[in-house]
Amino acid sequence: MVRPANGGGKPRQVLSEVNGDQEPGIRVGSGSVAGSDCGGFEFSKEGVEALLNERKITKNMSLKEKCDVRQDYIKRLRMCVKCFQEHEVELLLKQEQDVKKLEFAEKRCGDLEMLMSQKEEELNSIIMELRKNCTALQEKFAKEESEKSSALESLIKEKDARLSAERSHVSVMEELERAQRECSSANEKISSLNDMYKRLQEYNTGLQQYNSKLQSELNQTHEALKHAEKQKAIVVENLSNLRGHCKSLQDQLNAAKTSSNETMKLKEALASEVGRLRLDLQQVRDDRDRVSTQVQDLSTEVSKYKEWTGKSTAELGNLTTKSNELEATCSSQSNMIKKLQEKLAAAENKLEMSDLSAFEIRTGYEEQQRVNSDLQLRLADAELKLVEGESLRKKLHNTILELKGNIRVFCRVRPLLFDDGADNESKTVSFPTTTDNMGRGIELLQNGQKHSFIFDKVFVPESSQEDVFVEVSQLVQSALDGYKVCIFAYGQTGSGKTHTMMGTPGSFDDKGLIPRSLEQIFESRQTLQNQGWKYDMQVSMLEIYNETIRDLLTTNRPGSTELGTKQYAIKHDANGNTHVSDLTVVDVRSSREVSFLLSRAAQSRSVGKTQMNEQSSRSHFVFTMRITGVNEGTEQQVQGVLNLIDLAGSERLSKSGSTGDRLKETQAINKSLSSLSDVIFALAKKEEHVPYRNSKLTYLLQPCLGGNSKTLMVVNVSPAPSSLNESLCSLRFAARVNACEIGTPRRQTSVKPFDARFSYG
Ligand code: ADP
Ligand code: ADP
Ligand code: MG
Repeated sequence: MVRPANGGGKPRQVLSEVNGDQEPGIRVGSGSVAGSDCGGFEFSKEGVEALLNERKITKNMSLKEKCDVRQDYIKRLRMCVKCFQEHEVELLLKQEQDVKKLEFAEKRCGDLEMLMSQKEEELNSIIMELRKNCTALQEKFAKEESEKSSALESLIKEKDARLSAERSHVSVMEELERAQRECSSANEKISSLNDMYKRLQEYNTGLQQYNSKLQSELNQTHEALKHAEKQKAIVVENLSNLRGHCKSLQDQLNAAKTSSNETMKLKEALASEVGRLRLDLQQVRDDRDRVSTQVQDLSTEVSKYKEWTGKSTAELGNLTTKSNELEATCSSQSNMIKKLQEKLAAAENKLEMSDLSAFEIRTGYEEQQRVNSDLQLRLADAELKLVEGESLRKKLHNTILELKGNIRVFCRVRPLLFDDGADNESKTVSFPTTTDNMGRGIELLQNGQKHSFIFDKVFVPESSQEDVFVEVSQLVQSALDGYKVCIFAYGQTGSGKTHTMMGTPGSFDDKGLIPRSLEQIFESRQTLQNQGWKYDMQVSMLEIYNETIRDLLTTNRPGSTELGTKQYAIKHDANGNTHVSDLTVVDVRSSREVSFLLSRAAQSRSVGKTQMNEQSSRSHFVFTMRITGVNEGTEQQVQGVLNLIDLAGSERLSKSGSTGDRLKETQAINKSLSSLSDVIFALAKKEEHVPYRNSKLTYLLQPCLGGNSKTLMVVNVSPAPSSLNESLCSLRFAARVNACEIGTPRRQTSVKPFDARFSYG
């Protein structure tokens, strides 16, 4: 039996027991040897050596003792040998086992190595794959990031588009409202036409009723006529009867008359007979009596006859008068019938005519309705087109602005004035009429040499203030949309700067850009209010004279401005807003309030003018309006600024020919104007350093010049031949400015709330 190696075990003192003394134990190899056949004893190396080296002192011993000792020694040696033999067998066994184990282990090791190399290969391939994956993922990530940025960009674009869509929506709503109003007015017209139609129908029915009444009357009169005719026939019959009767009576009368005549003759004959017979009177008294009675009878009869005839003549007269009357009534009735028939005909005519006119009206009405609906359709179509066109125009306008950079230049030539001392013959300024430069070109003739310039717009002397404003109104509108807008008037003294900017504020035709812009802003504010926009406006006005700022709205008198320049220190904050310390800023709610402020500023300027030698033309006038808009519906906010600037006269030093204070003024002006051009050209060249600080004017306007604002320069030119040199200088400067591209205008909008009060700039 083999025990496992026991390196750390304590050496067992087995041989000492065998040896019977204190010798160290026997060790074999590194491990201890033990055998069951050795009686559980173990032998260390030292123990074996001690056993071999043992020399027992046997000199004095007997042989038997010696033999015993030797036997004992042999016995122990044998035991030792046996033990070692056993141990050897064990070791051989163990060795075999170990060899087997080793082989097995080697095999396993080889297997493991194979496995390991396979695994390693696998892992390498996995690593390669992972690396590939990693690079793919990195690529994907980069792509996604670019996608994200493009999405962000498109989001911003979409936001912009949404804003513009909102604006267009607003205008569409307005149009819609107008269309609805028109529609309602058309409806009203229709209803009024309907009313008229109804009334006409009523009139028609009235006329028909009247007609039927007339016809019934006609029938009645016909009947009456018939009746009258019948009566007339009866009367005529009666009359003929009466005539017959009368005739018979007359016949009778005639007979009676003849008989009376006969009797008269008889009487005469009788009378003659009486005369003859007078003598025989007595004789013929009886005869006479009889005859007289006869005469009496006859006379009564005659009287009776006479009475009868009288009666009959009276009756006849009566009858004739009656017949006459009847005839008169008959004729009058027939007259009436005639009249009534005429009337009826007229009424029928009228009816026909009214029917005709009703029909005409109806057809006219229908036609009108058709035309109306057609017009409405066309109106809607036109409105749609208008909206589309307007949005397209706006887009194109903005695109053009973006393409051109933000400084635009207009040129305005004022008319020749009486003071200019020149007639129209000596024309130095002309305007090309070729179609491509129409309204954009200007030519100056100097010493027979022609100088041509092209600007964004050229206003001829006949252009009105309204014409100029129409071109600028879009720009003014952008201030409400949140842009910074800056409009300069540039030119020599007397070229029309003040006329262009201010004009005659009170008048209708002659007021300048400033009053017109304000009116437009307040009007737009009113209309935008319906879309949920609420605007706050703040106005300040200042003048820069000899590099010194003067507050034109201060309630203190000008003397107090001499406190020092520290009072009006200009500061810009991170948002691109400008503050001028101590400057009066006034909240305004209507253009009337602003007009009041303008007149106050003008007064304040004119006070300066008398005191400071026509300061107005020697100073820059800066009108600033800050516009803050909040849309309660969409939570959108915009901050726009409108700067309107009447610059000092740009004439050069030599022309002024000045000395002393005048010289100082002119130098200050020249410095600020040349600083202005330096700034503009530095911006155009995209130079790192832009010399804003070289003058008060440029420093004040820094946020409005630098890149994200909309700037317009109106170059004023006098057509007077005496001003030709200055005009040329102005136009050259303007042309250089016009060639500048400065940047893209940017709106200042936000969606989260900001401080209600905001700063200058
Ligand atoms: P500036 O301000 O450049 O010195 P003004 O505006 O004072 O020049 O103009 C000088 C004169 O010319 C004024 O009397 C003004 O009324 C007149 N004027 C300028 N422009 C015009 C114009 N477009 N139409 C009529 N008169 C003008
Ligand atoms: P600017 O606008 O450059 O300051 P002004 O306003 O002083 O120039 O005027 C420029 C010219 O316009 C003057 O020289 C003058 O001839 C003329 N002008 C301006 N206002 C008047 C006026 N009220 N009456 C007569 N002429 C005027
Ligand atoms: Mg002026």
